[in-house]
Formats: sequence, C-alpha cells, structure tokens
Amino acid sequence: MASNRKVMVLPGDGIGTEVMQANMKIIDWLAKHRSLDFDLSEGLVGGASYDAHGTPLTDEVLADCVASDAVLFGAVGGPQYDNLAFDLKPERGLLTLRKEMDLFANLRPALVFPALVDASTLKREVVSGLDIMILRELCGGSYFAEPRGIDDLGDGIRKGYDTNAYTTPEIERIGRVGIDLARKRHGRLTSVEKANVMHSGVLWREVMTELHAAEGNGIELSHMYADNCAMQLVRSPKQFDVIVTDNLFGDLLSDCAAMLTGSLGMLPSASLGEQDPDTGLPKAMYEPVHGSAPDIAGQDLANPLAQFMSFSMMLRYSFDQAAEADLLDQAVNDALSKKRTGDIMAAGCEQTGTDGMTAAVIDALDHLAR
Ligand code: NAD
Repeated sequence: MASNRKVMVLPGDGIGTEVMQANMKIIDWLAKHRSLDFDLSEGLVGGASYDAHGTPLTDEVLADCVASDAVLFGAVGGPQYDNLAFDLKPERGLLTLRKEMDLFANLRPALVFPALVDASTLKREVVSGLDIMILRELCGGSYFAEPRGIDDLGDGIRKGYDTNAYTTPEIERIGRVGIDLARKRHGRLTSVEKANVMHSGVLWREVMTELHAAEGNGIELSHMYADNCAMQLVRSPKQFDVIVTDNLFGDLLSDCAAMLTGSLGMLPSASLGEQDPDTGLPKAMYEPVHGSAPDIAGQDLANPLAQFMSFSMMLRYSFDQAAEADLLDQAVNDALSKKRTGDIMAAGCEQTGTDGMTAAVIDALDHLAR
C-alpha cells in the first residue's frame, strides 16, 4: 500500500549527496523495523540542477516540493559555481524554495549531547545540558524586503543596499510559532531585535508584546537586543529556552549558538510554513545547517548526524512520530559514545567516516529496538 507521507528528497551537491545516501539507510531501517513508510521522490537542486538544466531549481522540482508533505534537503553549493550570476547560484535554489513554499519559521535547536560536551570551545559547565531553540523568521527582513540592489551613482561611485522591513502579520505569525514552541518546551520565550536603533525593531517589540498579552498565557516573554543576545549566548546560554528573532539576526545568532554544540556536522534545522488546510500539516523542509563542504566531499569524511537529526525533526513536526524521533535521537547519542567522524573526534574514541558513523547509528537502533 502506498504511504500517505509524501516526501521530496533533494540531496543537492557535495556532501549533501553523501549524507542523504546515509539518511536513506535510516529510512530503510524504519520501514523494516517500524513499518514506517514514506512515499519518496527525488529531485535535483543547486549546482546539480544547474549542471543538468541551467537553473538551480526547475519549475517541476519546485511544484513537486510544494505538492509534498515535507522536503528533505541535503546541501548545495561549490566553488565551481562561485562566478555564476546571482540568480543562477546554487544557494538561490534553496532561497527560492523557502520563499515559494512560504517557509517563514526556521527552527534550529542547539543541543549539547552528553557525549559531546567537551567538543564545544566553551567550558563544560557553560554548555553541559544545553538545550535551546532558535526560531528565525525566514521569509522577510533584509534578505527579501524591497528596495534592495546596487545602484550606480555616477563618478565611479556605487551604492549597495538592503531593507530590513517587517509588517505586523509577518511578526505575528512568527511570534505565534514562538509561543507554541515555548509552550511545548519550558515556557520561556526571548524576543530579540534592536529596538534601540531600528524602527523595524520597535514594531517587532510592540507586536510581540501585544501578541503575548493576547495569546501567550502561561508563557514568560522577555525582550533582548540582538547584540546583547550574541554576548549572552556565549556567556550563559542555558538562560534561554526559545529565542525568536528576525531573518538577519537569526542567521547570525543561530550560527553563534551552533558553535556552542561543537560542530556544524551536528546541527539540524526545520523550516515550517502555514498549515495545509487539507492535511493539517505545515509546509515543511528539513535540512542540516552545514553546507556542501567541498573541502571534504567525496572522501567518506562527512558527519551525517545533522542530516539524521533533521530527518528526526521531520518525524516529529511533520508526521507526529515523536516515539520514532526520540528513538533516532537516542541512537545518535549512543553511537557517539563509540564512533566519531573527524569533525567531532576526541581522545579515546574510534574515528570513522560517513559510512562507519551511519553503521554505528544503525547498530544503536538495532540495540534499542531489541
Ligand atoms: P560548509 O558548512 O560547507 O563547511 C564549513 C566547514 O565545516 C568546512 O571545513 C567543512 O568541511 C566542515 N563541515 C561542514 N559540514 C560538515 C559535516 N557534515 N561533517 C564534517 N565537516 C563538516 O560551509 P562553507 O565551506 O562556507 O560553504 C561551502 C559551500 O556550501 C558554499 O558553496 C556555500 O555557499 C554552501 N552552503 C550551503 C548551505 C546550504 O545548502 N544550506 C549552507 C551553508 C553553505
């Protein structure tokens, strides 16, 4: 019987293809041992799509993504595409998908696994037990708002500019996701902007305050300037539960939070849109935070765990399979006590590659399922 979980798989470029191949083994395991099936289709995106079709995202692949329940994404990019026109660059494929699917809520957990507490550059006591969620607005603000461009002012002078603009509905919808996440976690929401120097920040703070008063019963809301938040993230990150912020600040702060956990290879993300009125599921894309890592591509060196944990977020947020998501997260933690890829290698552990790490997670799954 065909599964009603329709998933579009976009491996992309570089290590994206390697970690996605590894992810397929996890999907096979779940089908075999948990009877959890997916209706999978695969497409090209990024440089791979440019090489085949002259565009980083074809209309057909975009339509398939829009029609799916969830998109599982690898990574895109590579130095061979660096000189392409802006609209043809691999990353444009990703930005177009986010925009066209209206994936306005980007969830990036920063979680320190007990086995990796010493992989962070910060002291053990600062990050031990860390579990925070950064919620970044993904469809508005400086990366999309108009006007933007590079103008020729004459006399050899040019002007590059972007606009940071948010409307009340844009702030309300991301704020609602923040309140919802805080409710499912530890009840604390920190809204981050720069209301001291930016008009968009003043409105952001006002709207968050009103929304919280109307819909945030039981949730503790606090406000913080983005520069202070960057400082607090490295000084005392455990003070946070859920941080909600705009596109630009979210980009910076989530990378900062990322390094609390030790490696880019350990960071999953989910990007969610509005609920589909027919299925009740949010439009959604799940992807590791890392890029295509051309420096290690094709050498069996990539850490596949961020990809696996992105898939785990898919199980949790798109398909309501919390038990299977917990099982996979536990298997990742257990595998880390035995094997490590080079990026998270530590004394006393056995170093392995993408295949070996995947095998360790499958072994852990087998063990947990006994
Ligand atoms: P990157 O994330 O690809 O790599 C940064 C460093 O981290 C590299 O040294 C890499 O080897 C290492 N690394 C990343 N993921 C790893 C993993 N899973 N296991 C082990 N090591 C890992 O970032 P970059 O080097 O700045 O960019 C490379 C390309 O990827 C560029 O074309 C960039 O535009 C693109 N990119 C794409 C995405 C995406 O698809 N979402 C995100 C960031 C960068």
